[in-house]
Amino acid sequence: MLYCSKCHALYENGTACSNCEGPLTEPKPGNLILLTAATYASSCEILDAFRARGIYIDRQPAIEEGVYELFVQYADWEIANETLQIVLEDLEKRTPPVHEPDGEKNKGKPELSRGKKWLLRILGAVAFGLAIWGVIALTDFAMSFVKPWFT
Ligand SMILES: [Zn+2]
Repeated sequence: MLYCSKCHALYENGTACSNCEGPLTEPKPGNLILLTAATYASSCEILDAFRARGIYIDRQPAIEEGVYELFVQYADWEIANETLQIVLEDLEKRTPPVHEPDGEKNKGKPELSRGKKWLLRILGAVAFGLAIWGVIALTDFAMSFVKPWFT
């Protein structure tokens, strides 16, 4: 692993940081590494989980408003990623109930109108078929009515 001390980023390989183009060094156990960026609410969940597990974590506001960057020590990198994964999965499980009505509405609406469109298309096709059949039947009827006059 390689480390950019300016960006707190880890790299698998490479010679320079792809963000700041600074030199990369071998990370030391105490080096702080940017784990993730999250909203304030999510960052609180992550902080709680890390503290419960006794993993050092540091939260700093990012440049963007409402976004927080979370830093962990290189020594904890693997356990930190594992823990983050657990927290994120947990957050995902808990978010759907809040967003489900919206999500379902958004999902349901186009499907409903798509269903209606199909229904209209089918009805249109049936009506068109009936109209054609009607014309043919009417012509037949008219022909059979008119035929005697010409024979
Ligand atoms: Zn950098």
